[in-house]
Amino acid sequence: FDDRDGFIWMNGEMVPWREAKIHVLTHGLHYGSCVFEGERCYNGKVFKSTEHSQRLIDSGRILGFEVPYSVEELNAAKDALIQKMGFKNCYVRPLAWRGSEQMGVSAQKSRINVAIAVWEWGAYYSDLRLTKAVYDRPAPNTAPVHAKAAGLYMICTISKHAAEAKGFGDALMLDYRGYIAETTGANIFLVKNGEIHTPKPDCFLNGITRRTVIDLARKRGYEVIERHILPDEVRDAQEIFVTGTAAEVTPVRAIDDLSYQVGPVTRQLMEDFHNLTRGDAKAA
Ligand code: PMP
Repeated sequence: FDDRDGFIWMNGEMVPWREAKIHVLTHGLHYGSCVFEGERCYNGKVFKSTEHSQRLIDSGRILGFEVPYSVEELNAAKDALIQKMGFKNCYVRPLAWRGSEQMGVSAQKSRINVAIAVWEWGAYYSDLRLTKAVYDRPAPNTAPVHAKAAGLYMICTISKHAAEAKGFGDALMLDYRGYIAETTGANIFLVKNGEIHTPKPDCFLNGITRRTVIDLARKRGYEVIERHILPDEVRDAQEIFVTGTAAEVTPVRAIDDLSYQVGPVTRQLMEDFHNLTRGDAKAA
């Protein structure tokens, strides 16, 4: 991924893609002091840009550091980079991390760096089939679960690799109590008898796409119930889908040995989300 043309925005400058490097003694690399975002630009406009910039700043604060740019500055940097790269539709990856000024767990004097990369990224999932994850989501008193923190993705990569080794597309992660949480990079919804059920985001990311899709579903008159959901409940769901910036709205076709059709509720919400993001300029 590092060998391509283009630019990466780094601490306020447009750096040629291949030269956007950091020192090997970067604190973020050693100790996970890094937060990031994942966004999509549709028709030249970053979807929910302000919400994502705010979440990056909030994630940094949860990890105990201040991102040295305002929401407005981050939004402008994303727009300038997308324009420089000449993209209309792309994925946007801002991140902020502690630098290499100080080694050791404590790094109070380290610089907070910020970078943004953008690239063209099509569908994240195709024919999504899930299997139970190797790891559970940690309890809120054991990790900063509401930050989009790089360190929290260690268990996601391990779980996703294990799922892929078994021929599945992703892993279904449970929470520390044994309830359904999410996949390694998207939130999950179950459709049961015309109602939409989704786990309460009390120990994992309350995705921006998740909230958008809940609003779209309620506008369509669907009952959306946020509650604790036991893994066995997937047995009598008629439809299951996931939501996320990369995933958008993707139907789940199987969970281990259970299969699902792409049903009418999922289809409707896929269409509504598509119209919201690609439809017109109101999709702010
Ligand atoms: N959960 C996890 C673990 C994720 O990585 C993501 C993607 N950021 C989501 C949920 C969905 O969040 P969003 O809709 O804000 O992209």
